[in-house]
Amino acid sequence: MNSTMQNISVEKVKKSKIEEVDFNNLAFGSVFTDHMLVCDYKDGAWETPKVIPYQPISLDPSAKIFHYGQSIFEGMKAYKDDNNKTWLFRPLENFKRLNISAKRMAIPELPEEFFMEGLKTLLEVDNQWIPQTEGSSMYIRPFIFASGNGFHASPADAYKFIICLAPSGSYFSGKVKVLIEEKYSRSANGGVGYAKTGGNYAGQFYPTQLAVAKGYSQVVWTDDHNHEYIEEAGAMNIFIRIDDTLITGPTSDRILDGITRKSILQLAEKKGIKTEVRKITVTEVIEAAKNGRLKEMFGAGTAAVVSPISGFGYKGVDYDLPELESSFASQIKKDITDIQYNRAEDPFGWRV
Ligand code: PMP
Repeated sequence: MNSTMQNISVEKVKKSKIEEVDFNNLAFGSVFTDHMLVCDYKDGAWETPKVIPYQPISLDPSAKIFHYGQSIFEGMKAYKDDNNKTWLFRPLENFKRLNISAKRMAIPELPEEFFMEGLKTLLEVDNQWIPQTEGSSMYIRPFIFASGNGFHASPADAYKFIICLAPSGSYFSGKVKVLIEEKYSRSANGGVGYAKTGGNYAGQFYPTQLAVAKGYSQVVWTDDHNHEYIEEAGAMNIFIRIDDTLITGPTSDRILDGITRKSILQLAEKKGIKTEVRKITVTEVIEAAKNGRLKEMFGAGTAAVVSPISGFGYKGVDYDLPELESSFASQIKKDITDIQYNRAEDPFGWRV
C-alpha cells in the first residue's frame, strides 16, 4: 500500500447545530454531530482524510455499494469522565477488525494512522458533543463502502472511508425476550459472518421481524447446519450462565469476534468467575432451564455493553429466566462501564 498521510485538514461548520439537541433525551444513533471525517481511495491509494461539515454524499447510481453491497463498518464509543476528559475503549481492536472485514469483502485495507489520527481529530473538533449525562456516550461509526462505478460484478476501484459521530443514550432499556432460531441463519461456514458487512444485518431483519410479530424482541442465532448450537443474540455475542459458569461460543467464520465479548471473558476470569469458551447446544440450555441450573443469559456488544435476557422461546414453548439480586450481567456491566468512564483502575490497559 502506498498511502502516505499528510496533515488532516479541518473545514468547520459556519454555525453549530448543538443548541438544537436535547442531551437529556438522546435516542440511540439518531442525532449526528456537526462534522464527519472523509477519506477517499483512488488510483490504488488512500488519500489523506479530511474533516468536513456533516453532509449528504453524492454517488453515481452505478456505484457498486448499491448493487453488490461492498461495505463494512465498525461500532465504538467515546466516553467523558467527570473531569471532562475523553476516553476510547480498545480502539485498536476496532481498527484491526475493520481491516479483517475489509480483506474478506475485497476492500483495500486502511493504514492504522488514517483510522486513529482521523478519529482523534474528529473527536477533538466535535468534543463539545460528547455527552456527559450518565449512561450516555458518543457512538462512533467508521465505515467504508465501494464508491467506484460500474455494473460489472467485481470489486470497485474507488472507496470512501467515513467516520460519523452520534451522541447517544443507552441502547436497550430493560430485559429482552428472545426467540431461538430454528429456520433462518445469519451466517455459514466459509461465509462472511465474522465480517461487519452490511448484508449480514440486512439478512437479519426479516427473521427478526417474524420474531417481533410473535412477541420477542431479538433472535438468538443458531448454526446454519442443524440449528443445534447457540451462536449470537441479535447483533451481539451471547453469554449463558449455567450454575456459576459463564459460557460463550468460540468465534468462527460465523461469529463476530466481539470486543465486549473478549473483554468480558478477561474481566470475569479476573473476578474469579469460571468461564468456558465452547460450543453450547440448544438442548443443553433447555435442560438447564428445566432443572433450574440456567441462571442467566445476556447479549454483549458495544451498544448495550450487556443486555440481559428475561426469557426465550423455542419450538413454541417459552422459558423464563430467574430474577437475580446480583447477576453476573449487572456486575460485569458495572465493571466495564467503570473502566470506560474512568471511574476505576484499568488493569488491562483498555482505555485510550
Ligand atoms: N455480534 C455482532 C453480529 C455484532 O454486530 C456486534 C456489534 N459489533 C457484536 C457481536 C458485538 O461486538 P462488539 O462487542 O465489538 O461491539
